Amino acid sequence: MTIHIEKPALTKIVATLGPATDSVETLQKLVAHGVSVFRLNFSHGDLHAHRERLLLVRQASQEMGRPLAILGDLCGPKIRVGKVPQGGILVEAGQDVLVRTDVEMAEDGKSPVLPCSYEPLAREVVAGQRVLIDDGNIRMLAVEALPHENELRCRVVTGGRVTTGKGLNLPDSSLSAPAITEWDKECMVWAVEHGADFLALSFVRRAEDVLELKRLLGALARGLTPMPDGVVPPAPSGAIPVIAKIEKPQAVEHIDGILEAADGIMVARGDLGVELDVAHVPIVQKRLIARAKDFGKPVIVATQMLESMIERASPTRAEASDVANAILDGADAVMLSGETAVGKFPVYAVETMRRIALATEDEERRAKRTDSPPRILQEARDRTAALAHGAWHIVEDIGASLVVVWSEGGGSARKLSQNDFHVPIIAFSSDETAVRRMALLRGVSPILWTRIPEHRSEFAAMVDRYALEHHWARPGDWMVLIAGKPLGVRGVVNTVAIRRAGELVSGSDE
Ligand code: ATP
Ligand code: MG
Ligand code: MG
Repeated sequence: MTIHIEKPALTKIVATLGPATDSVETLQKLVAHGVSVFRLNFSHGDLHAHRERLLLVRQASQEMGRPLAILGDLCGPKIRVGKVPQGGILVEAGQDVLVRTDVEMAEDGKSPVLPCSYEPLAREVVAGQRVLIDDGNIRMLAVEALPHENELRCRVVTGGRVTTGKGLNLPDSSLSAPAITEWDKECMVWAVEHGADFLALSFVRRAEDVLELKRLLGALARGLTPMPDGVVPPAPSGAIPVIAKIEKPQAVEHIDGILEAADGIMVARGDLGVELDVAHVPIVQKRLIARAKDFGKPVIVATQMLESMIERASPTRAEASDVANAILDGADAVMLSGETAVGKFPVYAVETMRRIALATEDEERRAKRTDSPPRILQEARDRTAALAHGAWHIVEDIGASLVVVWSEGGGSARKLSQNDFHVPIIAFSSDETAVRRMALLRGVSPILWTRIPEHRSEFAAMVDRYALEHHWARPGDWMVLIAGKPLGVRGVVNTVAIRRAGELVSGSDE
């Protein structure tokens, strides 16, 4: 099957995997419409199901010749509703609901019973505190806690249908749950063994939570026995990057430390909008994105971006505006959750997102943002960051249509990406892991190229052919080439060349 690949947006699209994406054809369509990172949410489904999905993504990647990254999303101390019969249970305003930690399956009745695996629930929630289900769609108040019965009696304020595995938020209670649970550790080991490209951690409260995960990953890397089931060898280019999900008020308070510790953040608006007043979410989103940019770390905006497309083939106007605004705020990536995992129109949802991104980026191009490099890198007088910033000006001055970099470890691609280019950045590397991880960087199209050119002139000739063949440039278009000397060596990126596509390239190195 040959699939027509649509023009990608500069903004990256992350899509959550689930029952609605369980065929390689669907995955290929999602990729053709712009998905470059797939998210496995360890909150739903077992490791066997995740393995099947991961293998499907690898298959799609191979068949399409496109690098695709896998982001494993660790649940953290998220509390959830347990098993509910098929179709869910309807709870109505005014009704009493019993949340119990010692039952396996929910029961319907005059006072429905909901199972919950958070054992200390009835000890830590106090009467009068809020008990919210499904990102706050269902709202209840605790009326009576009976620790000896493992029971919390709640009164429904806003009703709705409760289904299996929905999140349960207790924003008023002080909870003893650890930042990383035993299940998270199991998923972490699994993710590393299966060559996942990113790990996200839910409900981060402070930098220490991120550092703890990094310590566990470090220990695992040292003692790792290779490939128990032979899927993908463990990452050669260092530890797996950690994305901190910002969804607690404490995380917003401690954002600088978290940004320093993590490799990127996700504005996880589902839980964020429950844990703090939803009215503050838009401003908090803007602040978090701006701060992530100061630190030069990528930021993903997530949850309910095109929520109505779970059921319908077109989005609400408010949702279209939301996607555009996240991009204008400076998000590197926008994410789809239920829209792709369980929605009726996963492909339309991605297609819609890409079209909104293209239209928004087109306007941004006209507005010509002149961002300086991330504050932290500027202060550190980082050589590659300075060069990347210079390249931005060259592109603007000469009207180049493309930036091309040899970025073996992905570091210089990341620094280029942080300058918000209006043109694509093609990043070559011979390191498969690095190539997949670049799939999250705004504006970067990573390409695996196993033969490292010996001279920069050879690199230039190779770029020339590639750009014309793949329609990244037309003959005569300006291209800005960035590389190190020697090529393929990490951390040494020190030259910029300006070339025209199709220009005859002589054999001599300049
Ligand atoms: P998080 O807080 O980590 O985002 P979530 O429960 O909101 O957790 P999402 O990944 O955002 O989960 O997906 C939205 C909804 O889609 C879920 O609540 C769940 O009902 C459904 N869903 C997602 N992934 C799966 C899956 N693998 N299997 C079944 N249902 C899923
Ligand atoms: Mg969440
Ligand atoms: Mg969610």
